[in-house]
Amino acid sequence: MEQVVIIGTGCAGYTSAIYTARANLSPLMLSGSQPGGQLTTTTEVENFPGFPEGVMGPDLMMNMQKQAEKFGARIEYQQVESVSRRAEDGIFEIKTNTGTIESQTVIIATGAAPRHLGLPNEKELIGHGLTSCATCDGAFYRDVPVAVIGGGDSACEEAMFLTRFASEVFLIHRRDELRASKIMADRTIATEKVTPVWDSQVVEYIADDEGEMTKIKVENLKTNELSEIDVKCVFVAIGHVPNSKFLGDLVDLDDNGYIKQVPGTTSTKTEGLFAAGDVADHVYRQAITAAGQGCAAAIEAERFLADAD
Ligand code: NAP
Repeated sequence: MEQVVIIGTGCAGYTSAIYTARANLSPLMLSGSQPGGQLTTTTEVENFPGFPEGVMGPDLMMNMQKQAEKFGARIEYQQVESVSRRAEDGIFEIKTNTGTIESQTVIIATGAAPRHLGLPNEKELIGHGLTSCATCDGAFYRDVPVAVIGGGDSACEEAMFLTRFASEVFLIHRRDELRASKIMADRTIATEKVTPVWDSQVVEYIADDEGEMTKIKVENLKTNELSEIDVKCVFVAIGHVPNSKFLGDLVDLDDNGYIKQVPGTTSTKTEGLFAAGDVADHVYRQAITAAGQGCAAAIEAERFLADAD
């Protein structure tokens, strides 16, 4: 029987692991399909306190992992399918692709997954010129035109990163101003290789005979005019969907799928079940706020276990 199981290995997960490990609770972390979470798909992080020169996202996560393991956290690569709570003794049963784990408390730190537009052929095109990770795939598209969809900080970050490789980066946004922070927006627009395509929505991905992305059809939302742009890859950066579905009735979700916490805490509606980071935070969604919530969830889990003794 585990005392604490942490589902997810992003900023929230590792921070709760560091705290619960230092409290001698020997946490078990379950890492799903994206070990290290969203920061492993970014480049430089300039706003995580303590790194005046910035830090590469994957390096930051590697360091968090080392720090958690140093204090005794264990990490296993298992995909969680469902979580339930036994009525008779309140123990959680975590069903994974390899078995069932029992635990007294669970911290959900599963973050959020990239959202897509929902166009007909996008499933087939993912990995063939359609992606949501410039860091992972940008270098494959050297000296060719690419597009980024979105107007937030992620879209700007992706666009800026892609200028290292691509011949031209079309930044396609459905409005005529970026949602991104001013510093990021100004920097992106001022970059020579970035061509903003305002008030526009991609309405079709067009593949070549080999099934690789070759063009996008774009609608101007003000004039309804349609045009085609040649691109070899489209990077979608239109936000994320929280990874919360596998929890069933144990949690309440808001309209966008974010887990509802008891105000002022990381507790969910189920005793002993805590939620931290982007899976529960639609407001801030920052690495540092996720880490802060991970810390809070660890302390609350520790207190819950102490009260249960
Ligand atoms: P976001 O801020 O929610 O922006 C999503 C963008 O996608 C918006 O511009 C939105 O358009 C657009 N969009 C949403 N649905 C769309 C659709 N169906 N079709 C076309 N466009 C669509 O998401 P994000 O950029 O991923 O950022 C998430 C959070 O992480 C933010 O708090 C951000 O500040 C933070 N972040 C920070 C950094 C950094 O500081 N280094 C880097 C990345 C992210 P509208 O503007 O019209 O709504």
